Amino acid sequence: MSINGVVYEGERNVSVKPVDEPEIENPNDVVIDVTTTCICGSDLHMYEGRTSADPGIVFGHETMGIVSETGDGVSSLAVGDRIVAPFNVACGFCENCEDGLTGFCQNVNQTGDVPAGGAYGYVGMGPYQGGQAEKLRVPYADFNALQLPDEGHEDSFSLLADIFPTGWHGTELADLQPGDSVAVFGAGPVGLMAAYSAKIKGAGEIYVIDRVPSRLELAAKHCDANPINFDEGDPVEQIIAEHGGEVDKGVDAVGYQALDPEETDKGDDYSYNPAKENPAIVINSLIQAVRPTGKLGIPGLYVPEDPGAPDDAAAEGRLGIDFGKLFEKGQSLGTGQANVKAYNREIRDLIIEGRADPSWVVSHRVDLEEAPEMYDRFDNREGDTAFTKVLLEP
Ligand code: NAD
Ligand code: ZN
Repeated sequence: MSINGVVYEGERNVSVKPVDEPEIENPNDVVIDVTTTCICGSDLHMYEGRTSADPGIVFGHETMGIVSETGDGVSSLAVGDRIVAPFNVACGFCENCEDGLTGFCQNVNQTGDVPAGGAYGYVGMGPYQGGQAEKLRVPYADFNALQLPDEGHEDSFSLLADIFPTGWHGTELADLQPGDSVAVFGAGPVGLMAAYSAKIKGAGEIYVIDRVPSRLELAAKHCDANPINFDEGDPVEQIIAEHGGEVDKGVDAVGYQALDPEETDKGDDYSYNPAKENPAIVINSLIQAVRPTGKLGIPGLYVPEDPGAPDDAAAEGRLGIDFGKLFEKGQSLGTGQANVKAYNREIRDLIIEGRADPSWVVSHRVDLEEAPEMYDRFDNREGDTAFTKVLLEP
């Protein structure tokens, strides 16, 4: 039996075609009928051929839907329940899961591709078919599925699979406290959710750095952030001038495909381009912009293998980080996949209570069939219209 799913065919090429229909494989699995699944900036790294992903992967790690089948060992879920699945697949009983570090589950990815942690539809993250499809199998479902009210908030709830908790995670890694000033590099969906989380947590001042005008506008409008456009001058100098000194905390929501602000010929499309990238630039900018002993949260993705890297060292994940300066400033940093389960229940309740509504980040909701065009246009980030967050409806 088959269902339709979004399949990676090679560099900048996806198609919607029949893929294996997910089935119950273990007693604690459920299968859901997907109602919403999102395209992520993380998918773009694979889409652009900038990871070791082989063609054939079914993409998608941000998925919500209605339970259509339950395994014999499932006790907390029933057919008809509405759930959102964290992008992490986690067992719930290993040492890391017990500590709430579900992004680093030690049981779900034993093929050795990554040291710990699993996810749906992602290179190296285990055998879990992606959710940009009509159905998804959710393993260890009692642990992984977050239950939702039967109706309402479809857009906001879909963001609980990844970007809202991941933005929140960025501010947790940076140990953001009420009153702190914070610089968030990147105004993509993750950066915008980090800035929104900072606002909810009572940050004193928020700076958001990018060059895509529509994204900076969203940061100003919905996160009370001061937008900094790095096309208009050195971003660190702009932050320090506006703030009157270094900020308390910093978040990297860009990752290794960072555009070098000093690149003079950036062009006016906003897609990634290795010739114009500097994979260490955002971390080094944070080291400069954050005050001594300040903390850096780094949810932006870094990889040990980048086939399209701008140089040989970066191709092996070795970056020129200003570690001496970091040491001198006594700064600390936190990295890694977001532990979605550590936050998604509380954030869900903020949405239910009307205290948070992240749906403003959604720019498009379209049929699954339109995925190829959406990938192409989201990759450009802005053309005739802003592509901030694309939701697919199977
Ligand atoms: P995105 O690609 O849409 O956004 C990145 C933004 O950074 C773009 O708007 C781009 O213009 C901007 N940018 C590029 N160079 C910059 C620079 N030098 N300074 C400031 N801004 C710059 O992606 P996204 O969906 O927002 O994801 C952001 C990053 O977070 C990606 O690396 C993604 O893989 C990663 N991610 C990590 C996790 C996690 O669990 N840690 C989860 C989801 C996404
Ligand atoms: Zn994602």
